[in-house]
Amino acid sequence: LTYSRTSPGMHIIHIAAEMAPVAKVGGLGDVISGLGKALQRKGHLVEIVLPKYDCMQYDLITDMKALDVVVESYFDGQLFRNKIWVGIIEGLPVYFIEPHHPAKFFWRGKYYGEYDDFKRFSFFSRAAVELLYQAGKKPDIIHCHDWQTAFVAPLYWDIYAAKGFNSARICFTCHNFEYQGTAPASELASCGLDVHQLNRPDRMRDHSADDKVNTVKGAIVFSNIVTTVSPTYSQEVRTVEGGRGLHETLKSHSKKFIGILNGIDTDAWNPSTDNYISVQYSADDLQGKAENKDAIRKCLKLSGSEGSQPLVGCITRLVPQKGVHLIRHAIYCALELGGQFVLLGSSPVPHIQREFEDIANHFQSHSHVRLLLKYDDALSHLIYAASDMFIIPSMFEPCGLTQMIAMRYGSVPIVRKTGGLNDSVFDVDDNTIPEQYQNGFTFVAPDEQGLSSAMERAFQHYIRSPESWQQLVQKDMRLDFSWDSSASQYEELYERSVARARAAARV
Ligand code: ADP
Repeated sequence: LTYSRTSPGMHIIHIAAEMAPVAKVGGLGDVISGLGKALQRKGHLVEIVLPKYDCMQYDLITDMKALDVVVESYFDGQLFRNKIWVGIIEGLPVYFIEPHHPAKFFWRGKYYGEYDDFKRFSFFSRAAVELLYQAGKKPDIIHCHDWQTAFVAPLYWDIYAAKGFNSARICFTCHNFEYQGTAPASELASCGLDVHQLNRPDRMRDHSADDKVNTVKGAIVFSNIVTTVSPTYSQEVRTVEGGRGLHETLKSHSKKFIGILNGIDTDAWNPSTDNYISVQYSADDLQGKAENKDAIRKCLKLSGSEGSQPLVGCITRLVPQKGVHLIRHAIYCALELGGQFVLLGSSPVPHIQREFEDIANHFQSHSHVRLLLKYDDALSHLIYAASDMFIIPSMFEPCGLTQMIAMRYGSVPIVRKTGGLNDSVFDVDDNTIPEQYQNGFTFVAPDEQGLSSAMERAFQHYIRSPESWQQLVQKDMRLDFSWDSSASQYEELYERSVARARAAARV
């Protein structure tokens, strides 16, 4: 197949279910392209393997073409043909797997949420490893992500290493321990894994039942490196409440488990070059930010008379994790405090979607509140640019990207102190934090009072001390949330693991 190593760096292959901007549901998609590009810039050969979804944004893929080869992969006792496509996304070489399976696994008009997700992604994981094996690849690192590709770890060590495909160390990143990919143990057999061997308490058996397996647990057990997406979250998931049943497994594998804060793609998220926004701007020239605020007010038919009225933004999946009850409260709180509120969000949970549709209808022609219940990347850029404050009242948050994007666009974050929010937002009123790190407003208690008091402090600061607010905005915009330093941490982990393997092979 097409790409070969030309640099002295490592050969790193990510196998994932998402990649921004082509196939993105949430933060995972951003990580694959952001981390991938940063590792590539450091001189490594980085390749990505994705499913070939029907609903991807094909116009954002360069040089997409089908390869002449067909890769056959095992599933449910027989071999299925896979058509392999290659293309370039954001400068990264990507393989797309198109299974010729009657169930049309990736021909569903959506990424997740199908009745047979476990089957779809166990098929993909097997086909992805098979592709690398048949292509004669000799990667140093295979990096899989979340439960959808967690199958790769046991598949690699149990089936492929025995065939001599064993050059790689396996790294697994869990982006959210809420989603663990559990299923009746028998379903594991479809992709060729040995149910009897793996359905054991120290391997893949789920804590909830003897006949259930857990793919994230399998990846923790079978990977050489296990990471999650922030240091605070890596501690939280070691507790009974945070680990969702995996705290014991994480504790017993704690030597290889570490939290690394995600970065953001600072090319894609750059107010001085962003083509989605009305006027580009920078920390040195904030006039454009005010113009973006005016523009969005016009566009959303919000009243625009008072320049001093702060605009609060919120861009999120509307799921319980994100503190939907507090998001709802924030709308009313912003109004009471004399501000405006714009929400961009959509929900896979029908009753939450309905609840927010009701609120959206209630505020349909209100002059200070607008709810936009959809997924819209272009609009998200406008809201980051136009808002003065950005609200993230999550119940838990593995890393969170929106607080970092908001700061890059000069929107000051108001967040609950949990997970990655705790590692990236530091309260301006907390004297124990050195001033250069203070960048937003935080609260601890997951209730309305906690949020209200943080919002009140933010509004007071905005209204009473406009100059100091502007300095805060400029400071936030100048913070470095690029992937560079996080990618260096991954690089170091990979290198150490590869070196350990080589040393062991020499003994
Ligand atoms: P999660 O992965 O849990 O959804 P993150 O904060 O890690 O949360 O990442 C969310 C990403 O998805 C951000 O890039 C954010 O801008 C984007 N996003 C979330 N909801 C929407 C939406 N309704 N429209 C556009 N972009 C969205």
